[in-house]
Amino acid sequence: EPLIRLDGVQKIYHTRERDILAVSDVTMDVEEGEFVSLVGPSGCGKSTILKILADLIPSDSGTVQIGSADAPFDPSRDIGMVFQQALLLKWRRIIDNVLLPAEIIGLPMKESRERAYDLLSMVGLKGFEDRYPYELSGGMQQRAAIARALIHDPKLILMDEPFGALDALTREKMNLEILRIWEASNKTILFVTHSIQEAVFLGSHCAVLTAGPARMADYFKVDVPYP
Ligand code: ADP
Ligand code: ADP
Repeated sequence: EPLIRLDGVQKIYHTRERDILAVSDVTMDVEEGEFVSLVGPSGCGKSTILKILADLIPSDSGTVQIGSADAPFDPSRDIGMVFQQALLLKWRRIIDNVLLPAEIIGLPMKESRERAYDLLSMVGLKGFEDRYPYELSGGMQQRAAIARALIHDPKLILMDEPFGALDALTREKMNLEILRIWEASNKTILFVTHSIQEAVFLGSHCAVLTAGPARMADYFKVDVPYP
């Protein structure tokens, strides 16, 4: 049984002026442990699909199933999300930003704090635990956001163009870091990008969406080994 099953998912945004069909018809299965790149042009509905998966917004029709019937997913426990911006709370130190999801779901703080130190070290932020977000560069803030997405050891990680705002060199470094995390953890990752190069470089699988309200154009396994 796949970890994620989307079947005929549609989403319409209702605004004061008009209704916007953002996702037209998306059907896709994702197996546990896959690294799926969700690729398509800007505005085709990629962010909307991630938001539906994270249960941030409802879909209008179709079915969304994450986890199995006997072990349904709890989004705040089982999902970690990284957005385009780091979205750190500026009045909290880096360590306390990373700990936030653990606090919210009530994990034991002593263990979580140790885990937060380990995660910050893993993303290259050892020594910055007690700094405030404004003291870090954009890339460092994004790495802290990755640590925050992993603190509660989620089964599924959703990433929405997490490195789009970074320069090319930093983006490349971050991409390699994400691959390392994925290889070391056997987690399932859904990674949104508008770059087919990035999609193929990162993904074990590639879901291609059409321009306009998203429909599935293609879904394939990436066989080329990455360097
Ligand atoms: P992508 O992530 O592929 O760039 P989005 O999912 O952000 O695409 O957006 C898909 C479409 O839905 C776009 O036309 C966008 O303007 C529209 N849209 C996104 N969010 C909202 C919203 N909250 N209200 C109205 N329209 C939205
Ligand atoms: P993305 O396409 O990756 O979501 P955007 O910059 O297009 O990034 O959107 C930023 C935010 O504005 C998102 O939360 C999105 O849902 C919202 N948004 C996008 N398009 C619209 C729209 N037409 N009306 C209202 N909100 C929108």
